[in-house]
Amino acid sequence: MRGISKPRPPTDVRPDCQPSASLREAEDEYLTRLPAVPDEASFARSEFDGLAKQKLRAVMYREQHSLCIYCERRIAEGHPAPRIDHWYPLSRERRLALHWRNLYLSCAKSETCDSAKADHPFRWGADSHVPWPVDLRYEDVVGFTSDGRIYVRADVTMADAIRRALELAIADGTDGDRPRRSIVNLNHPALVKARVAAARGERKRMERDFENGTATRNEREQRVSELLGRRPLPEFVSIRVWWLRRMPT
Ligand SMILES: [Zn+2]
Repeated sequence: MRGISKPRPPTDVRPDCQPSASLREAEDEYLTRLPAVPDEASFARSEFDGLAKQKLRAVMYREQHSLCIYCERRIAEGHPAPRIDHWYPLSRERRLALHWRNLYLSCAKSETCDSAKADHPFRWGADSHVPWPVDLRYEDVVGFTSDGRIYVRADVTMADAIRRALELAIADGTDGDRPRRSIVNLNHPALVKARVAAARGERKRMERDFENGTATRNEREQRVSELLGRRPLPEFVSIRVWWLRRMPT
């Protein structure tokens, strides 16, 4: 998971058969009508479903550099198309149903990411909620074990309630004696295996390019900059960067 920037909401989100409207215009109209409708949940769903999703996704691919917002698998238009995730679920936060900063692309894998999340809120207790990726650099607060599992770093300072919410969302844990799977299931075996392979790929590149596989801190940072400058970003880029910055020297 990584923080992203979402500076430009789509300028047309209507199907081609309708007059064009920007997402902001569609959201303003939606929020104006919302208080008067008899069934807010149905209205929110139908208004969101009425948007031209392909036009939304076209902008979102660029913003997310073609990676799932959760697992960092590659996403692309196709069958099935990536899911548009409401960070605050549409069923619970209807005023954010068409809000650009609340919308993120997720891969369509059935056991992880948005499919696993469904309508679960990203929160612990009543008030703490996991921040939008536009408001938190997730790459600075998560880490990876040597066997590819993601966790919330203990050495990063954050409010306890946010930490608890974040751990529920992305890091496996326990409920009493029973193991607890994270909401988006980012330690699914297939993801753990793919992360290990990505880190191994970086190690092989370093061994190929540097004598005895050793590189100075500066050389490793250059490799990190090269990775982060690629478009689209490489899959599982966060563990690649994590490994490069912590590789034995
Ligand atoms: Zn995913």
